[in-house]
Amino acid sequence: MAVERMLPTPEAEDLIALTREIAAKELAPRAAGAERDAAFPREAFRVLGRAGLLGLPYPEDAGGGGQPYEVYLQVLEEIGAVWASVAVGVSVHTLSCFAPHSFGADALRGRLPDMLGGDLLGGYALSEAQAGSDAAALSTRAVRDGDVYRVTGTKMWITHGGEADFYVLFARTSDDGGRGISCFLVDGDQPGLTFGAPERKMGLTGSTTAQLHFDDAPVPADRRIGADGEGFPIALAALDSGRLGIAACAVGLAQGALDRAVAYAAEREQFGRPIIENQGLAFLLADMAAAVESARATYLDAARRKDRGLPFARQASIAKLVATDAAMRVTTDAVQVLGGYGYTRDFPVERYMREAKVMQIFEGTNQIQRMVIGRHLARAARG
Ligand SMILES: Cc1cc2nc3c(=O)[nH]c(=O)nc-3n(C[C@H](O)[C@H](O)[C@H](O)COP(=O)(O)OP(=O)(O)OC[C@H]3O[C@@H](n4cnc5c(N)ncnc54)[C@H](O)[C@@H]3O)c2cc1C
Repeated sequence: MAVERMLPTPEAEDLIALTREIAAKELAPRAAGAERDAAFPREAFRVLGRAGLLGLPYPEDAGGGGQPYEVYLQVLEEIGAVWASVAVGVSVHTLSCFAPHSFGADALRGRLPDMLGGDLLGGYALSEAQAGSDAAALSTRAVRDGDVYRVTGTKMWITHGGEADFYVLFARTSDDGGRGISCFLVDGDQPGLTFGAPERKMGLTGSTTAQLHFDDAPVPADRRIGADGEGFPIALAALDSGRLGIAACAVGLAQGALDRAVAYAAEREQFGRPIIENQGLAFLLADMAAAVESARATYLDAARRKDRGLPFARQASIAKLVATDAAMRVTTDAVQVLGGYGYTRDFPVERYMREAKVMQIFEGTNQIQRMVIGRHLARAARG
């Protein structure tokens, strides 16, 4: 069932219509097969890029779509309802363009049209084996050596690892904790950079996740984004926006599961009537719908604050927490609605359930979101 959206402009309505058409014709027929075969959907990103959907929230003069975040996120949600790996990929790519766009020198910003136009796909390389939730503990080193930084270390869990054309890399340039981290733009074919085998994951199998190994890799010094030692605030600012992307992906996934569950419940008969006519099951579906719609309202509220230039970090954490917890619950309940069939790979809801789980984990686990929200509350209480 198509979601009834309140969009701010006729242009936004056209964008949603275009996304639905691409989702139905190009994405939906390929999703199950690519996920089963763990095949990276590079062509899907090309299609979205050609349609102008890979740089939506960036200004037009930088090569982006000039759309409010509110619109970008609803496009993302539409993609997430059909193919979570691709929606997460669009979100990660958009996150990866944030640092070059917001903090890059002119020479780096010159590459933005290719990044935002979809010719180049991005990755965001912050996490390491021993630095996940505590990202400031990262140990990958970048040591200045004339015109280059020599980078050594291993990044872990990198979405699009080995597939991306560029990575936004966070590496240590001094031992001064979070203040000793710098940000770099690194090409996918950077000498000294190799990739681990893709992780064997529970879900999002079409979305490649791999380690990045840097072995004395000479990254040109003019590839640094922002000042030396100012990388960590850039990483955190990017994640504030990125979390909203994951919230939208999660709502899309939950909407997709709800749609499947309602359609099945209206058709499946037991005791001589469709199972949806049993109040016990209709209440389950009603709770699922309430979870999806309230999660959508939560991310839209945060996005509208961002679009108006208001602080939105607390609301972004709340949206990520609410939306991904809702997606986990709704996809699990969708399996319940389909009974034994829901537990098989013949129907997509078990895949949705596996895909929902990671959304509670990446871009800051939901415990970390609670920590962020709690800190905001404490700060407000202190006045
Ligand atoms: C499929 C996938 C894709 C990813 N893509 C990327 C990517 O593109 N780029 C990137 O940089 N990273 C990426 N990540 C990494 C992801 O962001 C981390 O996995 C996440 O931040 C958690 O880190 P961790 O796995 O080391 O868990 P840990 O930090 O070790 O946490 C383990 C558990 O402890 C809890 N915990 C930790 N600290 C606290 C605390 N202070 N209070 C309460 N609970 C706490 C956590 O919530 C969690 O439940 C990806 C991960 C996955 C699984």
